[in-house]
Amino acid sequence: MRKRVFSSIFLTALVTLAVTVSLLLMAVHSGLSQDLRERLSEECNYIAAAAVSGEQQELQHIGSVYADRITLVDTDGTVLYDNKSDAAQMENHASRPEIAEALEKGVGESSRLSDTLAEQTAYYAIRLADGTVLRVSSTADSAFGALSSASPWIVLIVLLALLVAALLASWLTHVFLEPIVALDLHEPLKNDAYDELSPLLHRMDKQNRKIESQLGELKRRQAEFDDITARMDEGLVLFSAAGDILFANRAVRVLFPNDSAAGGYMTLCRDAEYIRVVERALSGKSAHGRMEKDGRVYALTASSVAGAGQSHAAVLFVVDVTEREQAERQRQEFTANVSHELKTPLTSIMGFAEIIENGIVRAEDIGRFAGKIRGEALRLLTLIEDIIRLSQLDEGLSVPFEPVELSALCGTVCDRLAHKAAAHKITLHLTGKPVTVSGERRTLEQMVFNLADNAIAYNKPHGTVTIQTGEENGVPFVRVSDTGIGIAPADQPRVFERFYRVDKSHSKQTGGTGLGLSIVKHGAALHHAQIDLHSTLGQGTEITLRFPKAD
Ligand code: ADP
Repeated sequence: MRKRVFSSIFLTALVTLAVTVSLLLMAVHSGLSQDLRERLSEECNYIAAAAVSGEQQELQHIGSVYADRITLVDTDGTVLYDNKSDAAQMENHASRPEIAEALEKGVGESSRLSDTLAEQTAYYAIRLADGTVLRVSSTADSAFGALSSASPWIVLIVLLALLVAALLASWLTHVFLEPIVALDLHEPLKNDAYDELSPLLHRMDKQNRKIESQLGELKRRQAEFDDITARMDEGLVLFSAAGDILFANRAVRVLFPNDSAAGGYMTLCRDAEYIRVVERALSGKSAHGRMEKDGRVYALTASSVAGAGQSHAAVLFVVDVTEREQAERQRQEFTANVSHELKTPLTSIMGFAEIIENGIVRAEDIGRFAGKIRGEALRLLTLIEDIIRLSQLDEGLSVPFEPVELSALCGTVCDRLAHKAAAHKITLHLTGKPVTVSGERRTLEQMVFNLADNAIAYNKPHGTVTIQTGEENGVPFVRVSDTGIGIAPADQPRVFERFYRVDKSHSKQTGGTGLGLSIVKHGAALHHAQIDLHSTLGQGTEITLRFPKAD
């Protein structure tokens, strides 16, 4: 802008200078021409008057002393006399404008500039009484000629004028632009510049406010978006059409902590399935995939977002489906196990019934066979009851909690198991102090029953089972310990799984369903209780349930 303003002012000064000089030149030129013409007219009239009285000799006499040129032209244009040239050698002058004009009107004049404009020649002609034309002409320096003869000075003056114009233009530019350069664009209304800028500054102020409010709104939305996406458990990644990562939320950065979450999609993860899914989405199609990382399973869902032209941006969701897949697998296993467990006693019942039906069994054995059928049916019933109980716990019981005193509850369990304990030659002990927890009585009783039942079933003859209740550091607990066969360390984490048995045949002999500890685990979760298992192979097992501290 500074350059432009400077050149405008400078150019204006130059043009003004050039126009002024031209007009002056023209005025000087016109003044000189006028003077010359007037002088010639006077002299011509004077010579004409003299020539008329003295004929040609008189004219020749005047011509010899006269400094300027005198020419006498005949009516047909033939030059009769010229005081500077040989008349006979001169061409016909009839076509000369001043001669033609004088022949026609009596008086004629003209003026011509030399080719270089340095000189001008003025002509004045009058028609004499005999019809001939007397012409006087004079050549003098023109104004342009005077100018060119003073050229060194002129050049100097022009250079000086240019310098003054340049300095003036520079100073004016500075004066003009200074207030504009000093404008505070952040606070446009606080400026005291030109009045003409006022509408512009008001407009700027309005725009500034608008931009500020839009920026604030944008920041607010960005913060809201960041906050929401940071709280998401699912990973969210946005890719540009070029495959660059535009955004990756906290969950993704946790999932890929060692990788950079900026740059191309490859920088995030090198998993083949991830690359396939993202590339497919970038090509305009949605895609699903499954990826395993650090022992966990992730479902990948990528969608394509149409961009400008043929390009496609992409959105990727990463969802941890480890538990979901595990639950699905357990459900499938459970269904298969349930079918198998139900089938086994039913097959036995069918077999015994068929033998009786075919009359193969002797009359005195029928009672024994009926007992076997009853035993298998009982096993079936226990199994079905356990399955129902487990599914109820799975769904979450809606029975309200009540205060339950654990010592009394364990006494009931001991009573129920006294017969079984005696049959296995096991001594049952109930120790500790009464303690009350908040819970669901039936479930709590079943949990203790299952633990004590196992403690008897997996014990050794003449062994003992101790049920203890009380508080440790204010934490209510119930502990069932036995002097039985124990559980190997490798099996300990698995015994709470559904239908998991360390020794299948032994478990079946004891009438176990493989669901007892699973019910304990679900019951504990329902009561927010913690299970601790300590077991030594061949020595015994101790399982403790710790309940939340009473309020
Ligand atoms: P089951 O009906 O077979 O007893 P559980 O779920 O109650 O099923 O127990 C799972 C398995 O854990 C049992 O089959 C048994 O192998 C083992 N187990 C449970 N309790 C004990 C214990 N007190 N001592 C040794 N092994 C046990």
